[in-house]
Amino acid sequence: MDINILIADNDPDVLGLAEQLLNKEQYTVRTATTGKECMQAIYREKPDLLLLDILLPDTTGTAICQKIKNDPDISSIYIILLSGINIQADQIAEGLNTGAEGYLIKPVNNLEFTARVKAAQRAIIAERTLRESEERYRKLVEQSPDTIVIHCEDKIVYINPAGLSLLGYKGEEEIIGKSAIDFVYPDDRARVGRRIREALSQDQPAPIMEERFIRSDGSVIQVAVKGVPLTYHEKPAMQVIIRDITDRKRSEEVLRESEERFRVLFDEAPLGYHSLDADGHLIDVNQAWLDVLGYSHQEVIGQWFGNFLTLAYRESFQKRFQLFKRLGQIHSEFEMISKSGQVLFISFDGKVGTDVMGNFKQTHCILKDITKERQAEQMVRKLSLGIEQSPAAIVITDHQGHIEYVNPKFTEITGYLLENVKGKTARILKPGKTTEEMHQKLWDNIQSGHTWKGEYLSKRMNGEMYWESVTVSPITDQEGNNSNFIILVEDISENKKMIEELIIAKEKAEQSDRLKSTFLANMSHEIRTPMNAIIGFSGMLSEPGFTEEARNRFTSIIQSRSNELMHIINDLLEISRIESGNASVKKTTISLNSMLDELEVVFAQKAARTKKPVLALYVEKNLSDEQSLVFTDDYLLNQVFNNLIDNAIKYTESGSVRFGYHTPAEGMITCFVTDTGIGILKENFQVIFEHFRQADIPDPHKYGGTGLGLSICRGSVALLGGEIWVESEPGIGSTFFFRIPFEKEAINSGPGYKPLQEPTRDDCNWSGKKILLVEDDQTNMEFLQVILAPTGAELVTVINSSQLRAMYNRLDFLDMILMDIRLPDAIGWDLVKEIKTIRPGLPVIAQTAYAMSSDRLKSEEAGCDGYISKPINKTTLLGLISKYI
Ligand code: ADP
Repeated sequence: MDINILIADNDPDVLGLAEQLLNKEQYTVRTATTGKECMQAIYREKPDLLLLDILLPDTTGTAICQKIKNDPDISSIYIILLSGINIQADQIAEGLNTGAEGYLIKPVNNLEFTARVKAAQRAIIAERTLRESEERYRKLVEQSPDTIVIHCEDKIVYINPAGLSLLGYKGEEEIIGKSAIDFVYPDDRARVGRRIREALSQDQPAPIMEERFIRSDGSVIQVAVKGVPLTYHEKPAMQVIIRDITDRKRSEEVLRESEERFRVLFDEAPLGYHSLDADGHLIDVNQAWLDVLGYSHQEVIGQWFGNFLTLAYRESFQKRFQLFKRLGQIHSEFEMISKSGQVLFISFDGKVGTDVMGNFKQTHCILKDITKERQAEQMVRKLSLGIEQSPAAIVITDHQGHIEYVNPKFTEITGYLLENVKGKTARILKPGKTTEEMHQKLWDNIQSGHTWKGEYLSKRMNGEMYWESVTVSPITDQEGNNSNFIILVEDISENKKMIEELIIAKEKAEQSDRLKSTFLANMSHEIRTPMNAIIGFSGMLSEPGFTEEARNRFTSIIQSRSNELMHIINDLLEISRIESGNASVKKTTISLNSMLDELEVVFAQKAARTKKPVLALYVEKNLSDEQSLVFTDDYLLNQVFNNLIDNAIKYTESGSVRFGYHTPAEGMITCFVTDTGIGILKENFQVIFEHFRQADIPDPHKYGGTGLGLSICRGSVALLGGEIWVESEPGIGSTFFFRIPFEKEAINSGPGYKPLQEPTRDDCNWSGKKILLVEDDQTNMEFLQVILAPTGAELVTVINSSQLRAMYNRLDFLDMILMDIRLPDAIGWDLVKEIKTIRPGLPVIAQTAYAMSSDRLKSEEAGCDGYISKPINKTTLLGLISKYI
C-alpha cells in the first residue's frame, strides 16, 4: 500500500537528500520549507506521513504538531519530528507530547532514514486498516436491520438506529443509561434477567430466545433475542441482537389458524373427501366419507375405489377414472353401496393433484350423499307431473294470494295462461262477486290452517260465465307459517246444468203428473159430456113414442155432440203427431184472403150457434187477393186460425172477434185474432201454450176444453217456421199473434186440395159410373153404400187385398176407387202404388181413420188423388168424388 509523504524542512540539502532516498523507494513525496507551506500542503495533500523539522523559519515543529493533532480531520497524520543535533531533549519530548509519533536526529543515516519511514509506513497502514475495520463494524452495526444493544453493568450503553425505531424512540439519549429489562414485557422480565446473568457468568453466547418488548407507545412486539458476552471498556458486557418477529409470529398464527381450519374442515366437513392413487386405490378419506358409507378408516384405505360402487358404475369406473386423470377434473354422479348394503346416490367433484413436474400425484375428491335430494327430486317430479296432468284445475299462490302457478287444466277451463295471471291475486282470494264478509270468512278459515270450499259463478277469459267448485288449502312451511295456498278449481257448470235440468225435469214431471190428472178429469168430462148425449139420445131414437120432430132434434144433437167428440180426438191426435215429430209440412200456394173469407163464413155460423148475438166477427185483409197468395201449408195455417178463432168466440161473451193479418214485412207476415173477451193474466201468457194448460180462471168448467188447442197452434206455427204469442188484459180482451214466413212460389206445386173444406155438391148423379169400395169394416162399408146409393153409381165392394188383387186385370171398367188404408192383410198405400202402376189414370181416394196430416202426405206419395179421414162427412166425400170422377 502506498503512502503520501510530506517533508517540511528549511534546509534544502536535507530536503533534497530525503526526497532522493524516498523517491528511490517509490514513495510519493511533497516538500515544504516553511511552516505556512507545510500547513497548506497538509490541507491540500492530506499526507499520511509528515517529516517535520522542529525548527522552521516561521514556526516550530511542535506548534505544527499541536495544530495537526488538534484538528480531527488531520489528526491521524503520522508525524516524525526531525531535529538537529543541537536540539534539546526537552524540545523533542515536547514534540512527542503534542502527539508526534517519533523523531530523527539530523544528519540521519540513509539506511536508518529509509527503515524509519518504512516502519512508519507499516504503522500507518496498520492504523488505517484498524480504522477501516472499525468503520465497517460501525456501519454494520448502525445500518443493521436488527436491533443491536450493548448492555453493560445493567445499563444500555449503546443502541443502533434500528433499535430506536424498534422501540419507538427518537434519540438514543432516551434509552442509553436505562436497563434493558425496563423494555421487556413484565411477564418475561424474570426469565430475561435470569438469562442475562447466566450468559454473563458462563461468558457464553445465550441461545436465541423469544421475548416480548414494550414500545414507547405501549404496544407489545414479539422479538427474537440473542446475547453475546463481550468486554466493553474493559468491563463485562453483553451485545444483544434483537429481531422483530411480530410479523413472522402473526403469519405463523395465521398459518396455524388456517391449518386448524383446514383440519376441522377436513375432519368435520359435512362433505366426504377421498384421495386416490394413480390406480384408483384410496389413499385418504375423511370422517364424513366414512360416516356416509359406514366403514372404518382401516377398512377402506388401500382399497380399490370401484369396490364401493354399484355393479353398473363399477364397470365404467376404470374408463371414467382414466378420463378423469386426463382431464384433470371431473363432476359426475354415481351410485355407491354402503357397508350395510344400501345404495346411495353420490354427487362427486374431483381434481387431480400433481407434483412440481406436473405429473399425477393423487386425486382430491369431494363426495356428497344426494340420495335424499334425488328421492325428493323424484317425488317432486312425480308430484309436479301429477299437478301438471291433474284433471282438476290447480292454482298455487304465495301467502298473500298472488298467483305463482296454474296448471294446464286451469288454462283449459278459464282460458287464462300463466303469463296472463302470474302475480295477480287469485280472484277467489279477493273480494269481487263475493261479499266482503264471505271473503273475510274465507281468509280467516284458510289462515288458521283450514280448507275452504265454495261454489262460485266465474268468468272465463272469453267472457263466458261458468260455475266452479273451489277448494282453497294453505300450505305451511317448516315453521308452520302459511307459505302458499293451493286452489283446486273444478268446472261444475255441466253438473249445475244437469242438476238444474233435473230439477226442471222433476218439476215438469210433477207438473205433468198433476196436469195428467187434470187432463184425465177434463178428458173424462169432455168426452163423457158429448158421449152422454150421444148414447142417451141414440137410445131414445129406438124408443117409441117420440114425434118425428123430436127424433130429428135427437139426431141433430147426436151429430153435433159427435162432432165435438171428433174435435177432441182430432186435437189429441194432432198434438201427439206434433209431439212425436211425425208432423210434416206440405207447402202450396194458397190465397190467404180466401182462407179468411171461408173462416168468416164457417165461424159466423158457429158464432150464431153459440147464441151470443152481440158477438160480431170481422176479417181484416190488407192485401189484394193476388197479393195475398202465400206459399205455405194451408192445413196447418187453417188449423191455427181455427183454434184461435174458436177460442176467441169461446172466451168472449160480447163485443167482437177480429182476425186477419198485417202487411207483410221482411219476408214475414203477422196474423192475429183479437177478441174482447175475458182476457188472460200476464203470468199465464206462457203456460197457456203448454199442453193441457189452461189459464187460472174462476170458472173453468164453464168453458170446458182440453188445454190442447194453443199447444197445437204453437207446434203448427213452429212447423211453418214462425212463432206465436199473446197480448192480453183481463176483462178487456186478448190478441193472439202469430208470425210466419211470407213466401211466394211461382209454380203451384201441388193439387192444393183441402180435406176439410171441400166444396159441396148436392146434386151428384153418377149413374153409369163404377166405384170400387175397398173396406174391411162392415158398418163403414154399409155407411159408404148408404151415402153413395142416391148418386146412381154402380158400387163394387172388396174387403181385403187378395180380393182387390184378384181384380187387377179388370181395373179398366172402374171409374174410381175408395181405398181404406188399414186393411187386415195389407196397407192400402201399397195397394194404391200397385194399382197406379197398372192403371195410372184411375182416380183413387184414400179414406182412413189415420187422421194425421202425415197420413195425408203418405197418401199423396202413394199416388192417391184425394184423401178423406174418418169419420166420413157425407158432403165432403161427395164433393171429393165429384172432383175426380
Ligand atoms: P182450451 O181452450 O181447450 O182450454 P187452449 O190450449 O186452446 O185450450 O187454451 C188454453 C187456455 O188459454 C184456455 O184454457 C184459456 O184459459 C186460455 N185462452 C185461450 N184463448 C183465450 C182467449 N181468447 N181468451 C181468454 N183465454 C184464452
